[in-house]
Parts: sequence; structure tokens; C-alpha cells
Amino acid sequence: MLTPVEQIAFLILALLAVGAAYSGFRDVYLIVNRGSGTLQWNKLPARLWNALVIYISQRTTLKMQRRLLTSLFHLGVVWGFTFYFLVNFLDLLRGYIPNFDDSLVSSGLLDELYRLTGDLLSVAVLAGMVYLIVRRFILPARKELKYHDNVLLHPKVKAGSVDRDSLIVGVFILIHVGARFLGEAVHIAATGTDLSSPFATIVAPLFSGASEGGLLFYEHLFWWLALGGIVVFLPYFPYTKHFHLMMAPLNFLTRPERTSLGELEPLDFEDESVEQFGVNKLEQLSKTQLMDAFSCIMCNRCQ
Ligand code: SF4
Repeated sequence: MLTPVEQIAFLILALLAVGAAYSGFRDVYLIVNRGSGTLQWNKLPARLWNALVIYISQRTTLKMQRRLLTSLFHLGVVWGFTFYFLVNFLDLLRGYIPNFDDSLVSSGLLDELYRLTGDLLSVAVLAGMVYLIVRRFILPARKELKYHDNVLLHPKVKAGSVDRDSLIVGVFILIHVGARFLGEAVHIAATGTDLSSPFATIVAPLFSGASEGGLLFYEHLFWWLALGGIVVFLPYFPYTKHFHLMMAPLNFLTRPERTSLGELEPLDFEDESVEQFGVNKLEQLSKTQLMDAFSCIMCNRCQ
């Protein structure tokens, strides 16, 4: 558990971060709302189910035959990152509620399953992120990670802003998940082997030489790196292409029935109230098309 000073400091930091992030999220909301038409909220239960199935199965993203390794690592990162919503929430409670760990342990099998899933998915995310970073920045550049010559690029993209964004997000995820994983290893070094956390148990001897005070210091340090990292990252989230993590499921939830992503609404030349045909400003795109843009991870595959 955090000290009272740490608890107040984290609360202040979180409030500042939410305040700073508000304007970014609000901008996205306003941009989408400037679009024409409406988002589809009809048949909501069926749409929710469809968006959830697509998100969990990643069936629109995975290409098991052509990119098996990349698909599997990507799947591990998505599942791990999703599970971390629960992990972060419970870690927050661990930081604020006395003996919260004991309450978790008392739930028996449920707690063991939670720790096992967290341990396995932490390693899946770390391995996946290392692979994706190495693939993008170190391995010989793959064709699908390059822009075609005939694609018009914003000057900032030409200057490498998308690669820089990928690096920032990759390092953030490594710090966030890595710190949480090491925090569990410290906990095991202090309390003894945990069969429900096999990977953290393997790493725990790294900290076995630390004194009681040293272990406490590491535990607090890794808590701050893991949860403080999210809070510091939050204001940047609406500006990264990885905002698609949030926008893509929302896009699936609200999209109209269409035969392909780029399908255009038919023009009604008989409707005399229509003054604008086609699009020459962003706001003349439909809301769904603007959602499409925010959902794009800029993988270049459609170009
Ligand atoms: S670049 Fe094309 S294929 Fe890739 S995420 Fe964006 S819209 Fe989809």
C-alpha cells in the first residue's frame, strides 16, 4: 500500500492528467460531430456483441496464413492490454486500501486464475512489443511498413512523426507492463514462490538479495512506474495513432451497413435542398468516415 503522501501525490497527478487529457478527447468528439449524417446506434445489443466479438477475436486484423508470427504477437498485446484494465484497477485499490492483497488472496481459485492470467499476458505483451519494435526499427524494413511513392504524405509524416509515435507508445507499454511484472517479482521475492505466477517467480531471484527496506522501495517504485506511467501518458493518448485501440471498437459499434469501408452515399440529384455535392472540407465527410480516420492505425496496407 502507498504511504499517505504518495496517495495524495498520485491523486493530484491523476487530476492534472485528466484535466490535460480532457481537451484532446473533447477535440476528437467535436471533430467527429462536425461530420454530416449520424452514427448508427440502432440494434445496440447486436452491435455491441458484434464489436466485442471482433475486438476479442481480432478476426478483421489477424492474417494467420500470411503473417502468422506478427498476428500472434499482436493478439497477445491486444488481449494483455485489455486484461490490464482489470489489473490496473485492482493495483490502484492495492495502493489505497489496507490489506487489499489479503482480500484478493481470500478469493482462492479466482485469485489464482487472475494472477496466472496476469503473469502469462504480461509476458505475452512484453514479448509482443519487443517483437513489434524490433520488426519496425531494426529488421530490414518490410514492404508493408513503407509508404508507396504515389501516396501524398503530410510533411511531418515524411519527417518520421509516425515512427516516433510508434516508438513513444512502444516504450510506454514496455515501461507500464514491465514495471508491473517486476513489481510482482518483487512481491514474490518478499513472500516466497508463487505457482500462479510462474514467469514472475523465475525473475524474483533478481531481487532476493535486497533488504526488507530495499524490497519495499522497489515495490513502490514499480507501482509508480506502472500506474504513474498511465497517468503521464493519458494526455498524449488522443494524439497517437494508437488511439485506434479505443476508436476502432467504437467505429465497429456505430458504423452503417456498407459493402466496403470506402463506400460512398449515393448522391440524390433530385433533392433540391442539397447545396453541397461531394466533399471539399473535412466536415463534409460523414461522421462515420471521420471515425474511420481516427480508427486507422496507419499500417499502409490499403494504400
Ligand atoms: S492504413 Fe488502411 S488498412 Fe491500415 S489501418 Fe488504416 S485504413 Fe486500415
